[in-house]
Amino acid sequence: HPVLAARGLRVRYGGFTALDGVGLDVAAGRVTAVVGPNGAGKSTLFHCLAGTLRPAGGRVLFDGWDVTRLPAHARTRLGIARTFQQLAVFPTLTVAENVRIGAEHGRIADPAAVERALRLFGLDGPVRTLPAAGLPTGTLRRVELARAFAGAPRVLLLDEPAAGLDTAEVAALARVLRALAADGTALLVVEHDLDLVAGLADVVHVMAAGRVVASGPPGGVLDAA
Ligand code: ADP
Ligand code: ADP
Repeated sequence: HPVLAARGLRVRYGGFTALDGVGLDVAAGRVTAVVGPNGAGKSTLFHCLAGTLRPAGGRVLFDGWDVTRLPAHARTRLGIARTFQQLAVFPTLTVAENVRIGAEHGRIADPAAVERALRLFGLDGPVRTLPAAGLPTGTLRRVELARAFAGAPRVLLLDEPAAGLDTAEVAALARVLRALAADGTALLVVEHDLDLVAGLADVVHVMAAGRVVASGPPGGVLDAA
């Protein structure tokens, strides 16, 4: 069964319906992607899954348990970690300190998990002792990913993880995310970069106007998107 699931999510902003009955599963060992044009409702869905927005209707289930009313920090403790579209790294803390915060707020606070996260994302060299401020975007994205992963999450929610990365960095990102999935983590990726999604996702959900309009493996679904 899925680790995380959305069922019939409805969100309205004033008179505007942003989510109109959205459901999907995020399963262990898989990369699930959500794509669609601007305004489709991808960010709104992301916020419902992460716990930063409470839907007007529907449910978010974790291991079959209703977490719809649990706030974001409580979901993080359960093992639902996230990254931010607009980078949210602490600028005066070092790379390693930023990543350690992820472990402290995550499911498990284990120094070995911090070291593993730093290694996985290529941050275990001299860069680990540098303050985050001033590091290139690609490095900061890796700090964010490592921070999210350091708490040994069961689900990783990634909001536009390829934003601001060059081609080589996107390829490296895809490799690491595939490795995390192979290791049993459930990944959900909201992404504009359809090339990344094509090479990365096991399942793609295409959103339009607040609904999921197509779902399936990337091959067929992305041609229709
Ligand atoms: P996407 O991430 O696919 O671009 P969003 O979830 O950000 O879509 O937005 C879906 C729709 O809801 C858009 O039309 C957007 O303008 C609108 N919207 C998003 N957030 C708000 C808000 N806080 N207030 C009013 N409208 C919003
Ligand atoms: P993000 O993925 O960070 O939500 P957006 O640019 O879609 O990126 O939205 C930035 C912020 O503005 C979000 O908090 C979103 O809810 C809000 N927002 C988006 N569209 C609208 C809108 N039409 N009216 C009011 N707030 C909006």
